[in-house]
Amino acid sequence: MIPVVRPYLPDRRKLDSYIDKIYQSKQLTNNGGLVKELTSRLEEYLGVKHLLLVNNGTLALQVAYTTFGLGVEKCIDEAITTPFTFIATASSLKWQGINPVFTDINRDTWCLDPECVKKGITDRTRLVVPVHVFGNGCEVEELEKIAQQYGVKVIYDAAHAFGVKYNDKSLLAYGDASAVSFHATKLFHTIEGGAIIFKNPEDHDYASEIINFGMTKDSNIESLGINCKMNEFQAAMGLCVLEDIDNIIAIREEIFYRYKKVLTDWVGFQVLNDKITINYSYFPILLSSESEVVRVRDALESNGIFPRRYFHPSLDTLNLPGFDNSHCDVSRMVSRRVLCLPIFFGLSVNQVDSICSIIKSALSRTPVIDQPCF
Ligand SMILES: *Cc1c(COP(=O)(O)O)cnc(C)c1O
Repeated sequence: MIPVVRPYLPDRRKLDSYIDKIYQSKQLTNNGGLVKELTSRLEEYLGVKHLLLVNNGTLALQVAYTTFGLGVEKCIDEAITTPFTFIATASSLKWQGINPVFTDINRDTWCLDPECVKKGITDRTRLVVPVHVFGNGCEVEELEKIAQQYGVKVIYDAAHAFGVKYNDKSLLAYGDASAVSFHATKLFHTIEGGAIIFKNPEDHDYASEIINFGMTKDSNIESLGINCKMNEFQAAMGLCVLEDIDNIIAIREEIFYRYKKVLTDWVGFQVLNDKITINYSYFPILLSSESEVVRVRDALESNGIFPRRYFHPSLDTLNLPGFDNSHCDVSRMVSRRVLCLPIFFGLSVNQVDSICSIIKSALSRTPVIDQPCF
């Protein structure tokens, strides 16, 4: 059976040596030695400052919103976000009492279209939450201009953007903050986990209190906090995975270009921002219709291969309380036609070739289609 992703498991002895350290220190959580070590190694690897580790990517988003005083008490705040994403982008807003308002995506890059963001801004908008979907960089400069013009914050859902550079600088350094997920199925993981990268050190320091019940260094309570600290076992896993990350990315790169070579002319691809580096975290293909997606998925599944319909349905079609129901046509069209193929460390080029043959025969049509959105 070939899943869409398989979590990376580092060398057992290496992990054991970190666990030995935990047994020696007898500190299991509360900003222990391994959490501190992972924080500084990640800042160095990613080329960012003011990184705060937390216990998952969803709470990374929620703590980031809270740090800027959004939602919670004032249930009238709105945030503009994309409907073409994982549910956590929007549900995390609603949990903080911020109403998600969906505006449409660009039909080629599948990221929020800055022009649509601009049109969606009202006097209740306090925040924009763009997603670097599948690791593709949003139009960060345009979005920053809009944010400045309207006096709103920008918090990126950067769950897919680990290690991506934009113009030679970390993509995670854009916006007021970026939230990353280190879930087991992500490119880099700590089993469950996440991080927030802040632009300003004061925001980082305030958030570090929020994640520990709102307690200051002197154990005073001055703000409303929550508990979402990363623990030492999560950090141990992260340190092991980080040591292997360049190798993990190199293997994924090989898979990525193999798919691309064999499937070119057969399917459409996401158009990547030409200012970014690729982290090879996903391999989405665009088919000509939803029925093609279903046909290809069923053919793969009957061979024990499990692609996923990330991200279907488009979130603007959900009828959850407090979700707006504006109609995002491009997102609906893209989400009906995208299928993510398996890509992970341990998938062989031969397996990629068999996946591609199954796709081609399931398509049962001639290869020629126009790029990028046929
Ligand atoms: C995975 C993911 C999240 C949530 O991260 P968790 O660590 O699983 O809580 C949020 N947004 C996007 C786009 C994701 O893919």
